[in-house]
Formats: sequence, structure tokens, C-alpha cells
Amino acid sequence: MPLSHDSPIAPPPAIPPHWGRVLAEAVRDPDELLDLLQLPDEYREPARRAARLFPLLAPRGYVERMQPGNARDPLLLQVLPLGCEEKPVAGYSSDPVGDTDARHAPGLLQKYAGRALLIATGACAVHCRYCFRRHYPYGEEPRRLEDWAPALAALAADPSLHEVILSGGDPLMLTDARLADLCGALEQIPHLRRIRVHSRLPIVLPERVTARLLQIFRSSRLTAVMVVHANHPRELGGCCAAALRRLVQSGLTVLNQAVLLRGVNDSTDVLADLCEGLIDLGVIPYYLHQLDRVAGAAHFEVSEEAGRQFVAELQTRLPGYAVPKYVREIPGALHKTPL
Ligand SMILES: *Cc1c(COP(=O)(O)O)cnc(C)c1O
Ligand code: SF4
Repeated sequence: MPLSHDSPIAPPPAIPPHWGRVLAEAVRDPDELLDLLQLPDEYREPARRAARLFPLLAPRGYVERMQPGNARDPLLLQVLPLGCEEKPVAGYSSDPVGDTDARHAPGLLQKYAGRALLIATGACAVHCRYCFRRHYPYGEEPRRLEDWAPALAALAADPSLHEVILSGGDPLMLTDARLADLCGALEQIPHLRRIRVHSRLPIVLPERVTARLLQIFRSSRLTAVMVVHANHPRELGGCCAAALRRLVQSGLTVLNQAVLLRGVNDSTDVLADLCEGLIDLGVIPYYLHQLDRVAGAAHFEVSEEAGRQFVAELQTRLPGYAVPKYVREIPGALHKTPL
């Protein structure tokens, strides 16, 4: 009789919880977040007020990557509502990147040659305080596959389009079934060649990277590119590293875009650690974005001069492929503008 590899005292294999359940258990109450991190009471009232402008949302696995007792924690700063968000600042608006003018059909944004972007859903697994779409009117965008008909018709009518970008919100908030339906509909459009997914879920809710998800992209006629969004090397901890590896090993091209954020990653050391950590996982640092001037996020801005300095220093430290392109989005421009 062959020897069993299972030791009688080994625990049963862990079944990871369904990502929907992990999401349902995310932290939504500012007081709870402050309690979990043992932070002083002075943050409570401003956090409650600012959360009324844009609610707090942070998955527990993400909160576990924060340092208790540190009110300046770079992960915490990305999700904690602060009193200063309420103060209007000149030059900061609700639509800093000109989304309204680029909306060609419900859910369809088209700004650049060859590519079109679908607002696949308004939902996210985390609410980043600097999000340039924090004021976007998601309620007006399509929900069911039937609602996508005008956008799909517009894509089908424009043979110059080769790539569709699923954005949001976060497109991986769709169930696997909904995603498979949407991919299936896009595959029917003969001139489309690539599908690109912009998602922060592999970082903040790595449980979302399921075998079924990988299979949807692997089995598609369209070449799949995944652009994830990590801003700090510690975000790659927990189960995030394994999720990124699964994406890479399934054959997808995986890129990262980061936003340059004051107090989060405005140092050459932090950016170098982030870029090198990504490269070690097989993820290419793609863009470092200058902050879009969205109302409520002015306290995150880093000057372009400082940003250029960081990137120049990265170039002296890292392989060329590990240095992201430093860009900003200018409404009406035909591509992201290199800085
Ligand atoms: C950023 C963006 C893209 C993608 O631009 P790339 O430079 O190809 O990454 C496409 N459409 C819209 C509307 C965008 O904002
Ligand atoms: S995950 Fe992306 S879309 Fe969602 S809040 Fe964060 S930056 Fe905005």
C-alpha cells in the first residue's frame, strides 16, 4: 500500500473564503477603523464628516497591512477620510480629467486613438481618497448586459478601435459570470484585438483572483492585459504577492500604475522599493501618475518638480524597465502627457 502523504495531524487544506464575503466584511465605519488601528479620538469627528462626502471602504486584509498606532501610515492615508477634504481648493473640481466631454455613449469614454474605455461598474472594493472619479455620476451608467447595447454598437461601428479598456469603478467587482458575458460580447466585434482591465482588486482584495477569472481571460480570443494599481511597497504584502504571481503565471501581461501621493510614496526610497517589489513579482511598473486635481484631494499633491526628481533618481538605481513613465492627464490631450 502506498504511503499516504497526508499526515494524520495536518489541518485540512484551507479553502479561501469567497471574495464576495471578504468584501461584505470590509471596514465601512470610520470609528471601527480607528479602533482597529488604536488611533486617538481626535480623528473620529472629522473622519465621520468626510465619510459623508465619500464613504470609507477598506477590506480587512488591506487594513491588516497597516501599522497600528501610526496615523501617518501610508496605507491608512489612502483610505482614512480627513477633515481637510471638505475645504474647497481653487483648481480642484469634480471632473478634473474631462470625462463628461469624452462620454460617447452610456458607459463609453473615448479620448485616445485605437482605445475606448468602458465604465464597467461604479463599485470598488476600496475607496481611495484621491480617486479622480470620486464624484463620477455612476448611477447613470449601464448595469445589465442589455444596457450595454449602445456602447457595444458604438465600438462595433468604429474599426479604428483595437483595444477596449474595462475600467470603473473597478471592473473586477463584476461577478465572473457578468465579466464572461461582457468579454463574450466584445469578442464578437471583429476589429477588437485586446482587452485591458484596470483594477485595484488584486492589490486590496487578492481573493478576487480566482481560477475562473484567470480562465476567462486565458480562453478569450482577445489578448488580455491587466493593469493593477499599487502605490506603496507594503501594499504588495499579505496575499497580494501570490495573487499577482497567479496573474503573471496565467500568461497575462501585468502592469502597474501608481499615483504620486504626498505622505504615501513621495520619496525615491519608497518608489524604488515599490518598483523593485513589482518587478520581482513579474509586474512591470507602467505609469506614475501626477495627481488629478479632484475636489477633496488637494492635500495629496506633490509638485511636478519633486516628481521629476524622484524619477531621475529611480533611473540611476533601477533597470530601465523598472522605471515607470511619469505622466499626467490633461483634458483634451490625445494621450497621457509625459512630464
Ligand atoms: C488613460 C486612459 C486610457 C489609456 O491610456 P494608455 O496611455 O493607453 O494607458 C484610455 N482611455 C482613457 C479615457 C483614459 O483615461
Ligand atoms: S480603486 Fe480606483 S476607481 Fe476605485 S476608488 Fe480607488 S482609485 Fe478610484
